[in-house]
Amino acid sequence: MRKKIVAGNWKMNTLPAEGVELAKGVVAGRGEVCSCVNFIVCPPFTHLAMVAEALKGSDVALGAQNCAAEAKGAYTGEVAASMIAALGCKYVILGHSERRQYYGETSATLNKKMEQAYANNLVPIYCVGENLEEREAGKHFDVVKAQIEEVVYNLTEEQFRNLVIAYEPVWAIGTGKTATADQAQEIHAYIRKVLADKFGTAAAECPILYGGSCKPSNAAEIFAKEDVDGGLIGGAALKAEDFLAIGKGFAK
Ligand code: PEP
Repeated sequence: MRKKIVAGNWKMNTLPAEGVELAKGVVAGRGEVCSCVNFIVCPPFTHLAMVAEALKGSDVALGAQNCAAEAKGAYTGEVAASMIAALGCKYVILGHSERRQYYGETSATLNKKMEQAYANNLVPIYCVGENLEEREAGKHFDVVKAQIEEVVYNLTEEQFRNLVIAYEPVWAIGTGKTATADQAQEIHAYIRKVLADKFGTAAAECPILYGGSCKPSNAAEIFAKEDVDGGLIGGAALKAEDFLAIGKGFAK
């Protein structure tokens, strides 16, 4: 049985006190959703310590949105994986399309970040996904395959067993356009096959999340698909009520 996960990527939103309120709202309503759903919130770095406090005693996990590629040292403005782990993070989002697109993150950088994450016992939520041009040219399978081969294929089997993948078509992020449930299933099944080519039966255990304008009204249909194990949620994670309602989308 694969883990069911609903992870919230708050991006660069909320002030610290607002983030704490949001986290408290998730904790307060969490009991209304099946305990089989694993909720994760990923606030900005500046909020991590305060949000960790707000999550104390609950089963809502904390994640960061990024970490540095180096362990420590003269890297002004960077935040090390050891630092976020020390604040209570269990997860770290790596390779989000916004980081690839706006901050030039390449597979070479992401390999180093993955190494840092595992060295600090963090579970990476590794994002893959094609842009609109690539989708329209029918290249989406090749794009995600390369993103997996260049990074995930470098993991040991033990590391792979502590990995979450998020498939996020760039054309669906923050645009209101969602991949159809069938489109999501098609590529999630393909991703699982690419993972199985390298890791064999362990691929059946890897949670693959869908991300891209996922909301309470479309989550249930997408999550009902066999190879969709939950969602990485952006905009709708900023309201506790919506975030929790997405978790209620699991019927299986
Ligand atoms: C994201 O950026 O991870 C995301 C899925 O955003 P949104 O839900 O806002 O499309």
